[in-house]
Amino acid sequence: MKDTSKHQGLRNQLASILQAKGITDEKVLNAIRNIPRHLFIDSSFESHAYQDKAFPIAAEQTISQPYTVAFQSQTLNINKGDKVLEIGTGSGYQTAVLLELKAEVYTIERQQELFKKTSLFLPKLGYKPKKFIFGDGYKGLPEKASFDKIIVTAGAPYVPKPLLAQLKVEGMLLIPVGDKTQIMNLFIRKSAKEFEKQELGDFAFVPMLEEKN
Ligand code: SAH
Repeated sequence: MKDTSKHQGLRNQLASILQAKGITDEKVLNAIRNIPRHLFIDSSFESHAYQDKAFPIAAEQTISQPYTVAFQSQTLNINKGDKVLEIGTGSGYQTAVLLELKAEVYTIERQQELFKKTSLFLPKLGYKPKKFIFGDGYKGLPEKASFDKIIVTAGAPYVPKPLLAQLKVEGMLLIPVGDKTQIMNLFIRKSAKEFEKQELGDFAFVPMLEEKN
């Protein structure tokens, strides 16, 4: 696992590209500058690591596009100590950004190969979530609820009710909803029963799958 000044230069460039696309949160940009994204993808494709593109990882899944990761992180306004539930660990890159922002992270992955790979890999880089969970994100994580923020990093056909139910009041759920492409939906819990909803533009994610293996 090598990280060089050349990689650092490419990361700085990537952060500038994201800034030009509208990412203004310095803490998020610093996370992008710090995390060695090239180590999250197969080494033979290293040259792709610092382009603003999604890229295949294992098990027909993808590491999300850096802009998308930065956008979701910025939108959720992650504060130090926030209790965050992430659905779709994947490569662990978004997890690493949340940890750079000093959140307390619980992350769920339903694909066993990725779950195993990433739960071994991330701690080696020094990124330690509170818990890696192998399971179905549609259920959330009731035993650890409630959460300040919930981030879904796969395209959901609908908004799973358990995720809304597991938010603190003033907590936020950010979830891409749709079939082939998705609309980024932000829900802010206003009270036990009330949620405010905002739609924040079009994105493309791999699907959030239900109980299939
Ligand atoms: N944040 C990740 C994105 C990976 S792609 C990254 O940047 O690498 C989305 C991930 O969601 C995939 O790993 C997929 O296996 C996972 N996923 C899909 N449906 C899921 C579900 N119901 N519960 C948990 N994870 C799910």
